[in-house]
Amino acid sequence: MNWTRSLLVASLSVVAAAQAPASKEVEAVYPEARALYLDIHQNPELSSHEVQTAAKLAGRLRGLGYEVTEHVGGTGIVAMLKNGAGPTVMLRTELDALPVEEKTGLAYASKVRTKDDAGRDVPVMHACGHDLHMAAIVGTAAIMAHSKNTWHGTLMLVGQPAEETISGAKAMLDDGLLTRFPKPDVAVAMHVGNLLPAGAVGIVPGVYNTNADSLRITIYGKGGHGSAPHTAIDPIVIAARTILALQTIASREVKPTEMAVVTVGYIQAGTKNNIIPDQAELGLTVRTNKADVRKQVLAAIARIAKAEAEAACAPRAPSVDRYEGTDLVYNDPALAQRLRGVLESALGKERVVMEEPITASEDFSYFVEQGIPGFYFSLGGADPEKYAQAKAAGTLLPSNHSSLFAPDVDPALHTGIAAEVAVLRNLLK
Ligand SMILES: [Zn+2]
Ligand SMILES: [Zn+2]
Repeated sequence: MNWTRSLLVASLSVVAAAQAPASKEVEAVYPEARALYLDIHQNPELSSHEVQTAAKLAGRLRGLGYEVTEHVGGTGIVAMLKNGAGPTVMLRTELDALPVEEKTGLAYASKVRTKDDAGRDVPVMHACGHDLHMAAIVGTAAIMAHSKNTWHGTLMLVGQPAEETISGAKAMLDDGLLTRFPKPDVAVAMHVGNLLPAGAVGIVPGVYNTNADSLRITIYGKGGHGSAPHTAIDPIVIAARTILALQTIASREVKPTEMAVVTVGYIQAGTKNNIIPDQAELGLTVRTNKADVRKQVLAAIARIAKAEAEAACAPRAPSVDRYEGTDLVYNDPALAQRLRGVLESALGKERVVMEEPITASEDFSYFVEQGIPGFYFSLGGADPEKYAQAKAAGTLLPSNHSSLFAPDVDPALHTGIAAEVAVLRNLLK
């Protein structure tokens, strides 16, 4: 009886302490988190090649007392901290950067160049903010390791490779993420962006983002001399018609109340102005948020590509190859509601924003699809002053993947750590 009572009193005071000056414990771990941010930002690595990045993270987490397993699904890492009986909660960060040339002009801007998988020389930049996620997770890991009296259960930190190629989550699952390690009761992830000011977090209950499908369409023609088009079948003209006809899928075929995006991100054909090439290639990204609309859009793309080729007497039907894809991320609505309250008391009500679903995509959905309820929230990254100016001017700040993407590190990283700690403590009760 007494035991129960004293435990209750202790846990109440812990809760009060955690809620009041939350920033104090963040301050204690902040210098190291920031140093790691600067290091990783200046040493970005492309998807599936996050060797140094993963090693840095693994070393830090091991130093904090986590049991770390490396090389899970390639360069992935899993760090476990057991703290008595209770639920298992997974917190995930991505490890990879992008082939983008940084043009932020920051003193710590990346100057890294490397060879990509096709052997091309490319610049590398953390243009999606995954460096900030890693710095946050290490700060959070330190606080959780130093305050084991505030939670119980098992904390599972996951450093996932190759998010940008939508392949790392699957690789980790295929390599036994849920069989070699305990299956989490909840999976949590956070993503920084410029749609919210730094200091704020955003929540979307239910559908958070979109299904994504990457398609490659190869259109076959018949090459020849540019001066004699009647002797050839021009795949560039077929490609041009195809691209325009694809625009009618979202505007004419899909029900106006449904959401669909069909973007042709590249077209590759030809080598010289007076040569009609043999073939043309289109690269597409398709975004939808319902299974039946997804099916409808993918079928329409194949149908239109085939019909345009037929209309031009192409020697062969085009090939339509869906080479990668991921399902939308679904936020468990009850969990989102509960954690909204948790974040409001940790950060202040005015710092927690209810957001609309976005049309980005990500492979965190693979974890959720294993039957693990997920909570994926957004972290404000925009300099609050620039954010206000842009809002007043009706403009947008550089988005993720832009060469100018530069989160306002101090407020964003502070808030990210405080938010993650609050969420984990609530889930690990
Ligand atoms: Zn990204
Ligand atoms: Zn990202």
